[in-house]
Amino acid sequence: MAAFDIIVAGAGPAGSAAARALAINVPELRVAVIAPARGRGRGEVLSPLVQPVLRQLGLWSAFLAQGFAPSHRTLACWEEAGLKASELLLEARGPSWRVDRAAFDEWIAREACGAAERVHAKVCRLEPDADGWSVACDGGQRHTARLVIDATGRARALAHRLGWRTRAQDRLVAAYAEATGCGQSAPELLVEAFEDGWWYTMALDEGRRVFACMTDTDLARGLALNTRDGWRAALAKTQFVCLLAGRIDRLDPPRLIPAGGRYHAITTGDRFLCAGDAASAFDPIWGHGVAKAMRSGLFAAYAASDCLARGNAGALRRYEAWVAREAAVHVAALGEHYGSVSRWAGRPFWQRRHPSSLPLRRIQSGLAPDSIWPLNSMVSGRSVIGFREGLPPWNPFFAAALSRHDRRPFLSTQTPDP
Ligand SMILES: Cc1cc2nc3c(=O)[nH]c(=O)nc-3n(C[C@H](O)[C@H](O)[C@H](O)COP(=O)(O)OP(=O)(O)OC[C@H]3O[C@@H](n4cnc5c(N)ncnc54)[C@H](O)[C@@H]3O)c2cc1C
Repeated sequence: MAAFDIIVAGAGPAGSAAARALAINVPELRVAVIAPARGRGRGEVLSPLVQPVLRQLGLWSAFLAQGFAPSHRTLACWEEAGLKASELLLEARGPSWRVDRAAFDEWIAREACGAAERVHAKVCRLEPDADGWSVACDGGQRHTARLVIDATGRARALAHRLGWRTRAQDRLVAAYAEATGCGQSAPELLVEAFEDGWWYTMALDEGRRVFACMTDTDLARGLALNTRDGWRAALAKTQFVCLLAGRIDRLDPPRLIPAGGRYHAITTGDRFLCAGDAASAFDPIWGHGVAKAMRSGLFAAYAASDCLARGNAGALRRYEAWVAREAAVHVAALGEHYGSVSRWAGRPFWQRRHPSSLPLRRIQSGLAPDSIWPLNSMVSGRSVIGFREGLPPWNPFFAAALSRHDRRPFLSTQTPDP
């Protein structure tokens, strides 16, 4: 058994950022990071907001050296049937980044957790003891800490054990599949709404592409999205994503991944904090999950060090209030974003997300209105939510494919020659 000042459970973006910030700011504290070996990855796009956080953690140059693929543009087919583009060429924080999360998480854990004691295990029990917490791992080890940070992602494994259940805001699920041999790779992230939800697709590298169909769990069941046939039938309902899937050689079996919004306040005072998705998980349409997780790991580390090293107990309460406000801002923006789609007003997925719908009103009424305040960095997430109009898409693949299939041109008359 070892005694630590702080135990961070989880070594994803949130846990790693917390460990790194603790090592920088309070190197005198003894910190352990407890997490199992990383499971399967998935393709994700890191928003430009990762740059300021990685810089703050002193990891920006090391990140660039990894050679993750930049992406200077997002394409979306959302409110209307045509494609719109959001350019990142002039974005001060640079491009977004296409990453395989297994590789990114392995890198950040290696870089960020170096100064901490690394325990490769799962936390399976957590009990209060005289000076903080006693933590039991699945390998049988036991450790103690004065303060614990739960950064176990959507599992929220430690908070759950303490009886703090999250409130599900919706039942969004991703039917995620990786494919190889998809022909010419279009380097940008493509997001497309369809009658039962929305799709995203992105190239991970030459010849490997990810596709995810986002819908509600009951609708996913009805569409048989966990089968290749059901998944392909849903894909055929898209206008643009299906074009990129045209030349798939091999499709992995689709896997269903929970993706809905989750938040429930935790009243601290017990030297216990949640960071990243364990604190609040947002609908991936937000597009900033990893940046948000790292930022909250950083803030959780500040709160924890203020509490332990400087005796400032109010720091934990202020951190929780900040988490609550961020969740409120997200819900408000989400309502606007889904509310902008009226093409399938009669379909359950869109009805449930319309701003007048009961589930959304219930979420909003559960959050104090005065807690909705602008958070500079996350509100700039609207660059993903509100796409700039009128930019002619230059991607020759889309242009050629569209003319071949005689589909609607991009943004009416502005289609360039392929
Ligand atoms: C389908 C989908 C697509 C997404 N796409 C994007 C995207 O394109 N861009 C983006 O920015 N965000 C995206 N997100 C959101 C993003 O994945 C999350 O917000 C982010 O991973 C949260 O990081 P985290 O560190 O909080 O949690 P996680 O990344 O989930 O890490 C949790 C860590 O805790 C560990 N752990 C779990 N249980 C225990 C335990 N009992 N004890 C110890 N350790 C434990 C895990 O092994 C892991 O190390 C997407 C989410 C989904 C569902």
